[in-house]
Amino acid sequence: MVGGGQLARMTHEAGIPLGVKFKLLSDAPTDSAAQVAGDVVVGDYRDLDTLRRFAQGCDVITFDHEHVPTEHLHALEADGIPVRPGPRALVHAQDKGVMRARLTEIGAPCPRHRIVSDPADVARFAAEGEGFPVVLKTVRGGYDGKGVWIVRSAADAVEPFRAGVPVLAEEKVAFARELAANVVRSPHGQAVAYPVVESIQVDGVCDTVIAPAPGLDPKLSTHAQQLALKIAEELDVIGHLAVELFEVRTGDGSGDGTKVLVNELAMRPHNSGHWTQDGAITSQFANHVRAVLDLPLGDPRPRVRWTVMANVLGGDYPDMYAAYLHCMARDPGLKIHMYGKDVKPGRKVGHVNTYGDDLADVRERASHAAGYLRGTITE
Ligand code: ADP
Repeated sequence: MVGGGQLARMTHEAGIPLGVKFKLLSDAPTDSAAQVAGDVVVGDYRDLDTLRRFAQGCDVITFDHEHVPTEHLHALEADGIPVRPGPRALVHAQDKGVMRARLTEIGAPCPRHRIVSDPADVARFAAEGEGFPVVLKTVRGGYDGKGVWIVRSAADAVEPFRAGVPVLAEEKVAFARELAANVVRSPHGQAVAYPVVESIQVDGVCDTVIAPAPGLDPKLSTHAQQLALKIAEELDVIGHLAVELFEVRTGDGSGDGTKVLVNELAMRPHNSGHWTQDGAITSQFANHVRAVLDLPLGDPRPRVRWTVMANVLGGDYPDMYAAYLHCMARDPGLKIHMYGKDVKPGRKVGHVNTYGDDLADVRERASHAAGYLRGTITE
C-alpha cells in the first residue's frame, strides 16, 4: 500500500487475519501505518524510481491516498504490476474536472459546473445560473475542504487561481444534508453496496457519520446505491469507492421529495465507511483487501440497527490515553480507534464507533466520547 496514514494502518489491520503480507511505502517511519506495519519502505511516492523499487516483489499495489502521479501508475502497470484501482479509474478521484466530465457523460447527477479561467469567467458562470455564491475548487490537490472556496463576487475569486491549477466552478447546492454511498468492486466485477450513510461536516471536516442515514427514503437509498455501483462499474474502480452525495429537496421544498447529486469520489477506504469496522459484517477495510486481491467480497450488511462514528480531533491535551479510563468505564460498548498520530489542534487523530437500537442514545455516546477524548467535554 502506498501512503502511511490511518487508512493504511486500518487496512493493514484488516489483512492480518488473512495472513496477507503487507508492505508499506510511507513518507516517514513515524507515520500512522509505518508504526505498526512490519515491512516499511520510507520514500517519496512522487518519485518513480522509489515507486518502482517499492513495487518489486509486490503482487498488487493499492493506496491510502489519491496523490500518486497518474503517469507513474501507468508506468507501474507497463512494468506488469497490478495497480488497484488502476490509473484510468483513479484519475477521476485525483482530478475533479475529469470526474465531473465523466460523471456527466454517464448520466450521474452533478451540480451545475464548468472549468473557469479567471475571476471574470467566474462572474460569467454565476450569471449563467443563479448568480453568486459560487463554489470554486482546484481540480487537484484538495482535501478536507482545503482547495474549496465559496465566493460571493468576482473580486472574491482571486485566491483560487493563485496556485496555477485549473479551477472548477460549481453552483452552491442548497443541500438538506450530505450522504455517502459506499461500494466495493473486485476485478471479477463482483460488487457490494453498504447502506447509505449521513455524513455531518463541521468546518469542512467530517465530524459524525450515521449508518444508515436516518429517515432516508428507501427508494432514494436504493437509487444512491445503484448510482454508486454504476459509477464503480463504468469507471472500472477496483476496491472501495466512496461516492459523496448531496441530498437536495426537489420541487418548492414543501416536502415533495428529495434527490441526490454527486459531490465527489474517493477510491480507497473512506472516513464515511469507518463505522463498518464495528457496525457491518465485513468492514470497508476487509473488503478493500479482498477486492484488490480479487477474493470474493464479504457481506456488507449492518450487524445492528444504528452505528454512529465520531471523529476524534486533536484538542489542547496531547495525551488522550488518560481519557480512556472515563470513556471505557462510562460506555463498555464504545469502540476506540486511534491512529498513533501526535495530537495537534483540529487534526484527525482517531475515531470512535458506537452502536445500538436507540439512535439518540447511540449519537450521544459517540459525541460524548469524541468530545471527552478531545477535551471539550470534561465530565
Ligand atoms: P474535499 O476534496 O476537500 O473533500 P469537497 O469537494 O468534498 O472537497 O468539498 C468540501 C465540502 O464543501 C463538502 O463536503 C461540502 O460541504 C462543501 N461543498 C463542496 N461542493 C459544494 C457545492 N457545489 N455546493 C455546496 N457545498 C459544497
